[in-house]
Amino acid sequence: MDIKPSILHALGLIDCAVFERLKSGHLKARFVGVTWLAKLMPEASNNATFTYQHGCAYLDDFLLDAEKFWANGQSGKIKSGIWREQVAQQLLYLEAYAAVVKGVFYLVICNVEKEYQRQQQTLQIARETLFTNDKLVAQHDHAFERIASLVANSGDSSQAAAPLKKLLQQTELGVAILDEHLNLLNSNAALVHMFDSGDKKQKQAPEITLLQLFESQYPEYQRVFSTNSPWSGELYWLNAANGSKWFKVSIHPICHSEKQLTYWMLSISDISQLKYLLKRNQKLSQFDVLTELPNRQYFWQQLNQQIKKARPFYLLYIEIKQFKRINELHGHLVGDVVIKDLALRLRATISSEDTLARIGGTEFALIMHNDNAFGPITTLERSRCQQLASELIQAVSLPFYTEHGHQCEVGLNIGAAAYPMDADHSEDLMKYADLAMFEVKKQQKSNLQFYSKALKDASHKRIELESALRNALDKQEFELYFQPMFDLTSGAITKAEALIRWNRPLFGIVPPDEFIPLAEQTGLIVPIGKWVIKETCAKLAQLQAKNIAIKLSINLSPRQVNDRQLLDYIVSCIDTFAISAQQLELELTEGVLVDNFVKVQHLLNEVRKLGISVSIDDFGTGYSSLSYLQKLPIDHLKIDRSFVRDLNNNENDKALVLAVIAMAHSLNLDVIAEGVETEQQKDFLQLHHCNTAQGYLFSHPLPFAQLAHLLSQQKTI
Ligand code: C2E
Ligand code: CA
Ligand code: CA
Repeated sequence: MDIKPSILHALGLIDCAVFERLKSGHLKARFVGVTWLAKLMPEASNNATFTYQHGCAYLDDFLLDAEKFWANGQSGKIKSGIWREQVAQQLLYLEAYAAVVKGVFYLVICNVEKEYQRQQQTLQIARETLFTNDKLVAQHDHAFERIASLVANSGDSSQAAAPLKKLLQQTELGVAILDEHLNLLNSNAALVHMFDSGDKKQKQAPEITLLQLFESQYPEYQRVFSTNSPWSGELYWLNAANGSKWFKVSIHPICHSEKQLTYWMLSISDISQLKYLLKRNQKLSQFDVLTELPNRQYFWQQLNQQIKKARPFYLLYIEIKQFKRINELHGHLVGDVVIKDLALRLRATISSEDTLARIGGTEFALIMHNDNAFGPITTLERSRCQQLASELIQAVSLPFYTEHGHQCEVGLNIGAAAYPMDADHSEDLMKYADLAMFEVKKQQKSNLQFYSKALKDASHKRIELESALRNALDKQEFELYFQPMFDLTSGAITKAEALIRWNRPLFGIVPPDEFIPLAEQTGLIVPIGKWVIKETCAKLAQLQAKNIAIKLSINLSPRQVNDRQLLDYIVSCIDTFAISAQQLELELTEGVLVDNFVKVQHLLNEVRKLGISVSIDDFGTGYSSLSYLQKLPIDHLKIDRSFVRDLNNNENDKALVLAVIAMAHSLNLDVIAEGVETEQQKDFLQLHHCNTAQGYLFSHPLPFAQLAHLLSQQKTI
């Protein structure tokens, strides 16, 4: 069936080309009667069915998303966003859609020049643009995802340079890519154009102006960069030569998979015209159109007014938990519906005297009115704040349903700061509530966190610790200690556990419990973990040279297990140091197994094939579900030291240890007891056939030289 132009007009698809997508890269021309197409896609005009030749970077890029969308097969459509394409003498403004209609896959490319021109000019369109403000966010997100994957997957940045440059040139957004120290690596002409001050003498690089604006206008600045968090919002640029401008800005960290380097991507759109038009309409300028709640600017005014009254109150900073997942799973339209419903639920929960505003894409702020306004913030108010927070959490805890029947579940991260107890300036108050919110973000569950000075100090300490930790690998400040494990039957050392130490200058030896959790949160555990693997293999090779055969075990934390390169890395280290895989053991905690079952199953099956053994660390502390013990290739259970500690006095611990030994043996697993400090503990374990013991009774963790010395005296395995 041919598609008639009149139908396309009726559908509002004027000046469009329509294709049916047969299979990846293969299209069938359904309607191609537009002049510009011959220039854009010459292969399309003559053939009914053809292979798409690629070459238009923006479209190629959109087709990656489109393929995913088609593969999903659900009816609906996704849009590419408008892009510019220079063909011959003509500058085209194009937009593509991928659609699924009655099981048929369509690709539609429209020339939207007229719409584009209109968009630039009229108030009506400005309002529409405002309604689709979140589409702008989607456009930023889209650009980010593409650029992030180009940067992150490239072995080195030069490999990504050509496609990246092209993508940057074609996008309507201003884009800057910065290194981890916020120095410019790449930017595009659109950005330079946006920040053209008209003043030839005073030329400052646009990204510097942008960062300055962010720092001066948002209290989150420091937190965003020090914790590698994404951010989006609006910035105001008062620029004497050229009047003033408003920008919508998104800031995203990009983690390079290989080097664990962090890049930053800044994407910017100029929304001055929109703001100017909105200014004429007071209501629109103060309210968020999607939720109809006050917007950030209005909230800021309210907050300052409230502070002027000099009466105590609580400020709550509320963020939707893991909202990005909803956008990724269901698209931005569904995301919008959820935000709108969520705002309704929040509004229904608060009292009419509270002020609730939408201050960012997924962030809300609330000024909680104070019943006891003239007194200090009392404990009573604190419990009211707690109460309100749990009601808000409760209100969003039921699933959200969209018109297509999607079910979405969200949670809330809530931080609270008190005026004037915590801060007496709006900036500080927001910053502290944000900081408190960030604490909750680290947890799985929805929660409220009050700001405290201790939190601020901890945050400073954390920032310092993190930056020192970032450099520790380069500065070779890590060292492995090894704690021997003893066979309880023969008394021989059969294995040793590699335990990392950080020799931090001026601080001395930092134990792993103080930095491994931070390394885990920041992703630094991946390079640190690789170092541990390599160093352990190197030490095995050194022992081998001395004719000492022993097994060394390595602790793996959750992020490492998620690193797809882990297995290859282990294999390459085994090869490099010419050691045997049987000399390695991996220690994983129960939590890692349960949270990442599928990944762990794959990983463990592969390591088992190589001959590496596996033990379950801290056994007994976590999960009661033991079914995984049968499903996974595991060799040993390591009873947590907390059960060994009171073994001789506590009947419960005794029962648990006995049960673990019995169960492990029935599953053909060996048992290792850790934290053995006394003869009595050892005797008990020996009596009940525990296989191996590790603890201060036998040996503390030792520097490598001491371990080697100990082993050379023993020389058995
Ligand atoms: P873990 O895997 O449970 O390691 C055993 C911890 O118990 C070690 O603490 C060890 O020094 C300590 N220990 C050994 N014997 C005794 C004893 O008789 N009594 C008592 N009270 N403690 C004993 P350490 O070295 O401070 O390590 C703490 C944790 O840090 C480890 O717990 C492990 O989870 C993590 N960790 C250490 N090295 C690494 C590493 O290279 N990578 C990863 N991902 N985590 C590591
Ligand atoms: Ca361990
Ligand atoms: Ca342990």
